[in-house]
Amino acid sequence: MIENPMIARTDPDCQTEIQPIHSVQASDWRQLLSASTLSLAELLSQLELTHDDFILNYDGPPDIDPRDFPIRAPAPFIARIQKGNINDPLLRQILPLEKENVLMPGYSDDPLDEKDYNVAPGLIHKYRSRALLIVTQACAIHCRYCFRRHFPYEDNRPAREDWQQALDYLRSKANINEIILSGGDPLAASNKQLQWLTQQLAAIPQIKTLRIHSRLPIVLPQRIDSDFIAWLKEWPGHKVVVIHSNHANEIDSHVKQAINDIASTGATVLNQSVMLKGVNDCPETIVKLSQRLFSCGVLPYYMHLLDAVNGAAHFFISDARAKRIMGEVAGLLPGYLVPKLVRELANKKSKTLILPTEN
Ligand code: SF4
Repeated sequence: MIENPMIARTDPDCQTEIQPIHSVQASDWRQLLSASTLSLAELLSQLELTHDDFILNYDGPPDIDPRDFPIRAPAPFIARIQKGNINDPLLRQILPLEKENVLMPGYSDDPLDEKDYNVAPGLIHKYRSRALLIVTQACAIHCRYCFRRHFPYEDNRPAREDWQQALDYLRSKANINEIILSGGDPLAASNKQLQWLTQQLAAIPQIKTLRIHSRLPIVLPQRIDSDFIAWLKEWPGHKVVVIHSNHANEIDSHVKQAINDIASTGATVLNQSVMLKGVNDCPETIVKLSQRLFSCGVLPYYMHLLDAVNGAAHFFISDARAKRIMGEVAGLLPGYLVPKLVRELANKKSKTLILPTEN
């Protein structure tokens, strides 16, 4: 048993509660995925919340449902939100607020200037040895802090025949040895689509590693079905799956099973998180997350500082506070369970490491 019930609350701003692992019924992931978009009224009703809860806790709900980035969350994720709690850390990640519409200085639609590295439809090449394929524009969940919430997916939606441009680019670059499947969420694509794409990639000799960045094993673990596992096993080189969890309450028994299944393919499984105000901005929440990840066989990899994307400023945490929080985390966990605090900068060829404050 990894979790340590003796860890004290160390940060007075910490308001999040950790819930025990619990389960929801499994069902077909495609149905759950296609039913993931819901209106604000539907979300509030399912969680036994009212507009008054909004007014009391925030500046109020948006006047209309956000059409450009609608509310989206699969039923198994919503089932992990505590009913009647407008401050639930999972709910906060998907709840649209009126203040998303306020333009803040220093925030933009494309904080990482990804357009500058969009070398072919569906292909981003920023780091020397790695390239990123936008496999699909779809996500199972719409995280309100997402740095790609304004990404021009309409220009990056290649049909099968259009992938040739990206594949030709990859064949011409001897230094690219790792491909990252991203999105949207790459696992929102069908197993057949993934299989076709990786067959093309496997035929490029310099590509040795397949990396998948996905939040689906967390928010919709039913996605990790037997065909997916068979497909992942087929990849001839190294495989890395980077899941995305921000809070221990996101990890229930279905998630644990999905992670075990992924690991059974020989994949290395890592986690990345974003430090978000009101979600995980206290040491004990991050400690619990690392412990729960480890109990599932996952190592924490990155703790990202928020990308300054329009609409996400209410999640901001200052560098000084983030460094203090991670300093405390480092004092409570072994080094291999402390995620690296990083910031992604538009013009940098690698992530920038932020050193925690020593306590
Ligand atoms: S790309 Fe990832 S972070 Fe962004 S909305 Fe989709 S699942 Fe969330």
